[in-house]
Amino acid sequence: MCARRAARAGEQWQSNRRSTSQRSARTRIFVRRGEPSGSPDTLAVIKADIGPDCSRCKLHTLGRKQVVFGVGNPNADLMFVGEAPGADEDIQGEPFVGRAGQLLTKIIEAINLRREDVYIANVIKCRPPQNRNPEPDEVEQCEPFLFRQIDVIKPKVIVALGKFAAQCLLKTTEPITRIRGREYRYRDAILMPTYHPAYLLRNPSSKREVWEDMKRVRDLLGGAASRA
Ligand code: URA
Repeated sequence: MCARRAARAGEQWQSNRRSTSQRSARTRIFVRRGEPSGSPDTLAVIKADIGPDCSRCKLHTLGRKQVVFGVGNPNADLMFVGEAPGADEDIQGEPFVGRAGQLLTKIIEAINLRREDVYIANVIKCRPPQNRNPEPDEVEQCEPFLFRQIDVIKPKVIVALGKFAAQCLLKTTEPITRIRGREYRYRDAILMPTYHPAYLLRNPSSKREVWEDMKRVRDLLGGAASRA
C-alpha cells in the first residue's frame, strides 16, 4: 500500500490526526516462549480442548452464553489480543463485533488489511459479568489457551489492545500510557501495546497515537498480510 493511501485510510477512522509525532524510545523485554509440546497443536485442537461448555473458572456460572474462541486467518502475520468478550461478542460468539470491534475493523483497514487477514482473540474467552475486569483466577485458567493460539498462529506482530491485555501478556503493572507504542519481544513475535478501541470511542483524541502505532505495525509487517 502506498504511503498516501495508508494516510488517507488512517484519516477515515481518526478525525483529529495531527502531524507525525516523535516516536518514544523503544524498549525490548524478552519473554520466554513456552516449551514445545509432544504433538503438533492446531487451532481446532485448542478449541476442542477448551470445549463448548468450559467450566474451568467461575464465569460459566456467571451468565456467559458461550466461549468466544477467536477468529481470523490461522496463518496471520498480525494478531490482535483484547481483554474479554463483551455483550455483543457473547451473543455472536466472535471477538470484537460490537462498537469497539467496528472501530478495530476500521483500524485494520487503515493499514490496508482486511479483518479476515488478521487473527483476533482475547486473554479470556468468556464474558465477565457487567463487563468487569477478568479476575486473576479466570486469567490463570484461560491464558494458556491464548498462548497456544499464539504459538500455533506464529504471528510476526501482536497488538495488545488496552491496559488489561498489555499488562497481562507482559506481566507488568506499568501503565498503558508508558508501554503503548513500544516494541517487546514476545514468544517469537513483536508485541506492541496500544490503546483499546473502546477507550478510543471515549477519547477520540487518542486515535492519533494509535495511528502512529499502526503505521509502525505496518512497517514491521513489511507489507506482508499473511503467509496463506
Ligand atoms: N473488548 C475486548 O477486549 N474484547 C472483545 O472481544 C470485545 C470488546
